[in-house]
Amino acid sequence: RTDPAVARTTVRTTCPYCGVGCGIRATPTGDGGLTVAGDSDHPANLGRLCSKGSALAETTDLENRLLAPRIDGREAGWDEALDLVAERFREAIDRHGPDSVAFYVSGQLLTEDYYVANKLMKGFIGSANIDTNSRLCMASSVAGHRRAFGTDTVPGLYEDLEQAELIVLVGSNLAWCHPVLFQRIAAARKANPALRIINIDPRRTATSDIADLHLAIAPGGDVALWNALLAHLADTGAVNDSYVAAHVGGFQAALDAARDTDPALSGLSPEEIAEFLALWSGTEKVVTIYSQGVNQSSAGTDKVNAILNCHLATGRIGRPGMGPFSVTGQPNAMGGREVGGLANMLACHLDLENAEHRAAVRAFWDAPAMPEAPGLKAVDMFRAVADGRIKALWIICTNPAVSMPDADAVRDAIAGCAFTVVSDITGQTDTARLADVLLPATGWAEKDGTVTNSERCISRQRGLLSAPGQARHDWQILADVAARMGWAQAFDYASPAEIFREYAALSGIAGQLGRDFDISAKASLTDAEYEGLEPFHWPRTASRSGGRFFAEGDFFTGDRRAQMLPVSHRPPQSRPDAEFPFVLNTGRVRDHWHTMTRTGKSPRLSQHIGEPFLEVHPEDAARLGLAPASVAEVTSRHGSALLRVLITDRVRKGEVFAPMHWTGETAPSGRIDALVAPQTDPVSGQPESKASVVAIRPMAPA
Ligand code: SF4
Repeated sequence: RTDPAVARTTVRTTCPYCGVGCGIRATPTGDGGLTVAGDSDHPANLGRLCSKGSALAETTDLENRLLAPRIDGREAGWDEALDLVAERFREAIDRHGPDSVAFYVSGQLLTEDYYVANKLMKGFIGSANIDTNSRLCMASSVAGHRRAFGTDTVPGLYEDLEQAELIVLVGSNLAWCHPVLFQRIAAARKANPALRIINIDPRRTATSDIADLHLAIAPGGDVALWNALLAHLADTGAVNDSYVAAHVGGFQAALDAARDTDPALSGLSPEEIAEFLALWSGTEKVVTIYSQGVNQSSAGTDKVNAILNCHLATGRIGRPGMGPFSVTGQPNAMGGREVGGLANMLACHLDLENAEHRAAVRAFWDAPAMPEAPGLKAVDMFRAVADGRIKALWIICTNPAVSMPDADAVRDAIAGCAFTVVSDITGQTDTARLADVLLPATGWAEKDGTVTNSERCISRQRGLLSAPGQARHDWQILADVAARMGWAQAFDYASPAEIFREYAALSGIAGQLGRDFDISAKASLTDAEYEGLEPFHWPRTASRSGGRFFAEGDFFTGDRRAQMLPVSHRPPQSRPDAEFPFVLNTGRVRDHWHTMTRTGKSPRLSQHIGEPFLEVHPEDAARLGLAPASVAEVTSRHGSALLRVLITDRVRKGEVFAPMHWTGETAPSGRIDALVAPQTDPVSGQPESKASVVAIRPMAPA
């Protein structure tokens, strides 16, 4: 299925897994396969790849691919399937209003796909009911950025890792989840033995191995630790008074809240806290990297702001080698944020709740409608599916029947929905099996468009294999449905380049309205220039020298000042008790990605870890009668799983860890999100995936 013109021609593209966004040089072999290597010219990875990226060639075969549309399990033509989707969405909207329909999309969509989905839902259907699996990944960082900076802006660059004197990794197993960034830090450490590294994580991980100091913080203890730091900075004269006076508001209220917080709530000893405070306050060039351990919490947004407070108070932001740095889990979580593909955002970092912004986007799109209030965020969206408020649901490129918290309830909600459409590369996921209509989409090696990585670098993803069977690109499928719903002219795109130009032009309006995201210089790219587009960071303006934000203030708030937030300790919503005495932490393993649709195809990747497991502390294992490699039944108020026991002191007593990847297909009893409570952060709507409570019992005699 290789286009003969492309065979054996090396194509520069981007890895479709994590938010590091590594550049890849891929070469079709002429027989449907390809080879991959790291792109030494890409600024994210400079030629490096991790195990997942280097095994991409093992994931592009056609086994389990969905090759034709299906309706109620039977093969159908595209026209019949698209007519039905448009008819059922139109029917629901006409009878029950625009908020009776919803899109649930993915941080793995390309920016152009995401833009079209968001435009269709917000500007034409007239609802904000579009949310994404990125809600499970980094919504708390988005909310924290917006509260502090006025926009969802990542201030720094990856090269700050090489320039830092201290790197603090909070709630981040970078070694497994963002391996190439970890490789960059390891190389930086080798080049500069004075570089210090602190890892803050309840669990000791592969990332802890490189750390000078591992702080096994209590689940939910982050605000207590960062508030202790803010108070310490004030007490020791380490606040940058001139930066705060010129560029920051809310300092005193944040400091008062910090002083009211008991550092012991972090779960750390006074000695550990003192060592952290001394290292952080005594080092000028500090980068604080944070990820899901911070975000996936019912206090996630406050945790983010507690970190941002300390960087703002010291002015350690936007200068080489220093700044807070949220690393995103998914390959295009950032692109989705930029196009406003979440229920509470508009395109190009404009605000859905701002009338001027809504009017500007509506006029640009010449849109018949525009919602005035946020739509349903992921957890609430599936609740609305369950109770029948959502009559038509379109799930694109994601597997919520496995990956959402309370996954059994989500699976049952999808099964009971009046009309469900799933677009994906396979019809074999737990979610796809529940669909009324299945639409075959193109996959990584076949798609064309752009993605944005965690450091605001926009890169091209380029097709190198022809689309198999009848598969179509996601933007085409969405535009085809939009046309059938009566909006052909607004969705008359011939290529991803056309979509990109429109999106870039819209960003110019955002720039005029004082927002950070403005790539309008790219709005006049020719098709050939788009094809050859080199990776570039936004912004590229003289006033943002060095490609970073906020060294000279100029935040995106009304008064152009950042806002420090008063934040207080809030423990996880679920508390262990006699019935459910253990705290369950969930996360990724090194060599699998999400629900394994692609990485599960590679025997090499499954050699690392081949089945779901449960990490249990030795004292807990002894008390429960759990033998090494025995099977335990793990139960929560929401579901249960059978998991292989791994006895290790990497976890704290009373806490256990299990990976999230296995599905009803790959390990029917190992769907870990079936156990996770659907509790969310009140600001970001992000679920608390790292602190559910469970009971454990052995399944076989120890
Ligand atoms: Fe792909 Fe992430 Fe690995 Fe880079 S670090 S090769 S983007 S999975």
